[in-house]
Amino acid sequence: MDLVLLGAPGAGKGTQASLLGEILPLPRVSSGDLFRAALANQTELGLKAKVYMDRGELVPDEITIGMVAERISQPDCAHGVIFDGFPRTVAQAQALDDLLGRMGRKVDLVIYIRVSTPVLLERLAGRWTCPKCGRVYHRLYSPEKVQGECDDCHVPLYQRDDDTPETQSRRIAVYLEQTAPLQAFYRERGLLVEVNGEQDIQAVHADIVKAIQKARGEAA
Ligand code: ADP
Ligand code: ADP
Ligand code: ZN
Repeated sequence: MDLVLLGAPGAGKGTQASLLGEILPLPRVSSGDLFRAALANQTELGLKAKVYMDRGELVPDEITIGMVAERISQPDCAHGVIFDGFPRTVAQAQALDDLLGRMGRKVDLVIYIRVSTPVLLERLAGRWTCPKCGRVYHRLYSPEKVQGECDDCHVPLYQRDDDTPETQSRRIAVYLEQTAPLQAFYRERGLLVEVNGEQDIQAVHADIVKAIQKARGEAA
């Protein structure tokens, strides 16, 4: 199954992708995590992407699509992927259709996690991330067990450079301009299921699991 998680920055895509990873035997492909890993390794791709990430802008489609194409050509992605943060533009969605099409696959389901802007800002402000595994925590809503360190890796958590107030607002505006049109793109194709993202993490997860079961049932 190829599943896309769609939603604004802070909607809970990464959180839900991790939870799904525990029940769906599929790799999670997060374009943001791929860019951050490239940057940590000081690759040319990472350094190019950083300029855009620091401004809260999207990295150009050509760079992003190439990176994701490379990732999903790897053997662990042969049976499906949970996409988190990709596609983010109509051009990326079309490229994903082409890429999967060449593998005899297609996007099976798109979960749109709906969250209003004030809630997004509150979530981004309290987000702490593990530099090693990418797991996210929230000071109020999803705290780590031992303050300041990842439950799984036991390394210190950090706040992302692009989680400053100015960049947060810019990223939400960029989402509304460039990514929100994907809601209609996938709705027209009958692939979009909308989930209320303002519930607690487990309730959102339960709604997503229901949507996946329904999609699978109808496909069978
Ligand atoms: P968030 O979890 O807050 O939505 P991400 O980790 O997904 O943020 O992305 C961080 C940044 O990486 C984005 O602001 C953007 O600069 C870049 N990025 C991630 N995914 C994409 C994409 N699909 N297209 C273009 N840029 C992207
Ligand atoms: P995205 O990947 O869409 O940018 P994240 O999964 O990184 O979103 O979540 C953003 C922040 O909000 C994190 O600090 C996370 O712990 C928290 N969070 C995620 N889902 C919820 C929820 N349903 N209720 C409260 N906080 C949440
Ligand atoms: Zn970790």
